[in-house]
Parts: sequence; C-alpha cells; structure tokens
Amino acid sequence: MRKLATVRKVIDIAPIPGADAIECVTVDGWKVVSKKGEYQIGGNALYLEVDSWVPEALAPFLCKDKREFNGVSGARLRTIKLRGQISQGLLLPVPEGASEGDDLTGMLGIQKYEAPIPADLQGIMKGPFPSFVRKTNQERIQNLVAELEEWVDAGLEWEVTEKLDGSSLTAYLFQGEFGVCSRNLDLLETAGNSYWKLARDHKLEQLLRASGRNLAVQGELIGPNVQGNPYGVGAPQLHVFDVYDIDQGRYLTSPERMALLDGAGLLHCPVLGTQNLAGASVASLLASAEAKSALKAGTEREGLVFKCLSADVSFKVISNKFLLGEKAI
Ligand code: ATP
Ligand code: MN
Ligand code: MN
Repeated sequence: MRKLATVRKVIDIAPIPGADAIECVTVDGWKVVSKKGEYQIGGNALYLEVDSWVPEALAPFLCKDKREFNGVSGARLRTIKLRGQISQGLLLPVPEGASEGDDLTGMLGIQKYEAPIPADLQGIMKGPFPSFVRKTNQERIQNLVAELEEWVDAGLEWEVTEKLDGSSLTAYLFQGEFGVCSRNLDLLETAGNSYWKLARDHKLEQLLRASGRNLAVQGELIGPNVQGNPYGVGAPQLHVFDVYDIDQGRYLTSPERMALLDGAGLLHCPVLGTQNLAGASVASLLASAEAKSALKAGTEREGLVFKCLSADVSFKVISNKFLLGEKAI
C-alpha cells in the first residue's frame, strides 16, 4: 500500500506574497499551503499526499460537497493553486504518540483515490497480479529528495520518456504460461476485454515465446473511455514502456528493451532522449515536466518517467500544469 499519510520534518516555511493568513510549508519535495504559524521549521507535521481519500472526520473543512469513495464520506486531495502558490496534499498536526517517519495511512482510514474502471477494462480475474513480475509503480520525485542529490552527484544517465495517462498492461511468459494483467489483476482471456484484445492483436505471446526467455512486456493502454481519452485515439492502443526479465529479477535497460522490441511493430511511449541530471533539483524537474504531449497537439502531458541506464532505478515527475487542469472529483 502506498504511504499516503506520513510524519515528516518541516524543512522550510516561506511567506506567500500578498497573503497574510497563509504560508508555504515544505516537507521533502512537497509544497503545501497552510495556515500561518501552524508549523515550525525543524518540527514535524503529518503530511497527506495528493490522491489521498481523506475521511470527513479528519478534514471536515474539505468536505462541503458530500462525496463518497468505497463507502467512505470524504474528499480527494488534489493539486491546487492558492494566491499563485502551488499546493499539493495537506498538512495536519502530528497525532499524539506518532513520530517522524511513521506511516499512519491505515490507522487514519486513508485510501488511495482511484477513478472508476470502465467495463471493457475491468475484465474477469484469473488470479492476483503474479508475484514473479514487478508491479508498474513509479515513485514521485517529491519523495526522493535525498536520492536525487546522490544521482546528481553520481552523474548517472537516464532515459526520459513521456508518461502516458492511460491504464497499465502487463503481458508475461513464465514457465511456458502466457498471461495478461491489468494494473492489479491477472486476467482471464475473454473476447471483449481490451487488454487481451491488444495482446492478441500485437501477437505479444509469439514475441515472448520467440525470445526463449521468461519476460514480461509492460505498457500503457490508451483509448476511448480510458482516463477521458486525452489523446483522442479512435481505438485502444498499447504503448510499451518496460520489459521485465523474470529470471534475473530486473528491468531490461533501455537499449536491451529496444533491441527486444525491434521489428515487432509495437508502439513505445514517446522517448524524449537521454540526459544526466547535472544541476537538477525537484523544482527544475517539475518545471521540465510541463509541456505538451508528443501524442496530441495541444494536450498537456501528464509528466515524465526517468529510467536509469546503468541501474535498476526509475522515478516519475508529474506535471503540475497537468494536475491543475484535471477534472475535479
Ligand atoms: P495513479 O495516479 O492511479 O497512481 P499512476 O499512473 O500515477 O496512477 P504510478 O504507479 O504512480 O501510477 O506511475 C506508474 C504508472 O505510469 C505505470 O503503472 C504505468 O501504467 C504508467 N506509465 C505511463 N507512461 C509510462 C512510462 N513512460 N514509463 C513508465 N510508466 C508509465
Ligand atoms: Mn499516480
Ligand atoms: Mn496512470
């Protein structure tokens, strides 16, 4: 489970020009607008990340519109702008007895908000997501401040791809068995399921069998009904972003992945190039994430995913411009 509510150290507090009741508080790489005087630099605060579904009792002031998620009345934390200052998530006083680093997500009844899944994507469960493949999660750069400093110092090179806003697909071949999964489930093959249709249309089973290895291809399914189809495509498409080597327990590097996919006729998430992180900060990376999508003119891109060329690490940088433009729920 994602750690959505954690006790963190306040590293900076800055005034907001023209605002005297509020200020901008920094915890790790996150900026959160809060009431003035609530927190002190060097002190602790309970930080709730964006996409938290916060029960009404914890933050009644956010719940003027009555909304429910999984039967819990509450509100989704979003990215907002207050007096020109970006604010992501929510700070609350540290509950009695909790200390820095504690994860209170479960205890406080906080859930990760997920948009409803359209019928053709839902599918029928064959089993849980297989334990021999890694789930397609990426950590946010705001939670990687210390790591970023190390990566900058080490001068590592990274593949930079556009993060597409669709739904995650995994197709695996393991010990002779081929399977297709959504983000969290191994799916039964049915005629109407979009994940399986794409796997069949693109002959992913043949591709994996021809490799003679135990591998999983992972990509983003975009299409009508998926996340509001921001790219305006007429039919579902698969854009590959990773290949996982099951036997070695690691992702293929970018060149290895490209070699494996060469000639297979698959689409790949837009590759924007390789770059080292010289001089990069959370702020500069967030700024560089803001741009139009390579898939559709005029559409704001969701963000970037950085994958290291020499180590099995990666992270995502979500565009605040994209987040500010998201539909409210
Ligand atoms: P949610 O907002 O529901 O958490 P998310 O897309 O932000 O969804 P994360 O795990 O936070 O999910 O980010 C990783 C996901 O991004 C992957 O599961 C994959 O579906 C998607 N993705 C899209 N484009 C890329 C890309 N170029 N490289 C890696 N992952 C990508
Ligand atoms: Mn996310
Ligand atoms: Mn996504």
